[in-house]
Amino acid sequence: MNPEVDLKVGNLSKIETWITSPTQSDDGWTEIKSFLFLRLTTSDGFEGWGEAFTLPYREIAIEKIIHNLVNTIAKDKNITPHTFRDIVANISDKHRGIDFSAATSAIEMALWDISGKISKQPLANLLSKNPKNSIPIYATNWSNKETQTETIGRRAVKLIEQNFGGVKIYPLQNRSPKEGADFVSYVRNLIGSDTPMMLDLASPDNFNLSYELAPLITPFNPYWYEEPVDGEKTRILADIRSKTNLRIVTGEKQCGLPHFEETLAANAADILNPDIAAVGGILDMKKISELSLKKDVKVSPHCWNSMSIAAAAMLHFCASIENAEMAEIFPEYLTHVMKFSDPGFKIEHGHAILGNEPGLGVSIDTSLLQSFCSDYNEETLGK
Ligand SMILES: [Mg+2]
Repeated sequence: MNPEVDLKVGNLSKIETWITSPTQSDDGWTEIKSFLFLRLTTSDGFEGWGEAFTLPYREIAIEKIIHNLVNTIAKDKNITPHTFRDIVANISDKHRGIDFSAATSAIEMALWDISGKISKQPLANLLSKNPKNSIPIYATNWSNKETQTETIGRRAVKLIEQNFGGVKIYPLQNRSPKEGADFVSYVRNLIGSDTPMMLDLASPDNFNLSYELAPLITPFNPYWYEEPVDGEKTRILADIRSKTNLRIVTGEKQCGLPHFEETLAANAADILNPDIAAVGGILDMKKISELSLKKDVKVSPHCWNSMSIAAAAMLHFCASIENAEMAEIFPEYLTHVMKFSDPGFKIEHGHAILGNEPGLGVSIDTSLLQSFCSDYNEETLGK
């Protein structure tokens, strides 16, 4: 860790959590999932925001884990992001799970936000001596509804025109490998040969499809080949990597350091994409980055979360590491969260530009946020 910034955040006096309702994007392009936000308040009046990765049917369970953990650390007068990580390691007893890790990610994120506000420093400054303020980004061109090749292609062009530095598509979504290759060819022709085009296989049930697709799409020069098989299948992943010249991306569904150590040891990836709000915490992200750097592997955090708190954490993290790859933005999610927040970054020429506000730099109008929520939960701590 460089430098070792580790501030005591003081007594935690209040915890609030919000769960937003699933909805549709304004343009009808895709469903927007639930987001789970956390705000911790200290007795000195500092507020820290965090966000947990969510999946359907689990949001309230993750919220409960967050409240249980925060109630535990609220009794500790010397809590810091680092000591929280140690406490979590002890509590978890090496039993990891993505829902528990999502909860710890949210809390650690909030502790970092408080640390930044106490020290009047943007988070990236706490994580690095020489942070960047400009991070290359790409747009995820995902829809759970729209599958027409021409429509997705037109949208890819539009996203590049909107200043995203690259675009991600899903060639095996409702397509055979042959149809997927035709789709990739079509989009490549539309966006031009120089635009980074990420391909996400989204961990197909039949990983033989990924073997089949790889040689068919190689001529179209994809930027990377994401999740050709579930990240847990390290040996198969390494085998796919050994049989192609494609850059393999993996890690979005995994949490905890041991998994990423194993992936690196197996030479199974060119880029790791743990989710910033699911992997366990920003300190774990930093450790994964350090380990990856030694193997000349890049890190591109997955961010299937709101484009406010979690996206800001992702961008500050990317600003702080040497081996960051392009960061992920969900454009429709960004449009949605602008209705209740200022995410603290702007998009220019394929990059996200961070501001100088302390901590995560995100401001949220809680009245407006509340209007998008199905659940709000507040507790006073320390009684
Ligand atoms: Mg993915």
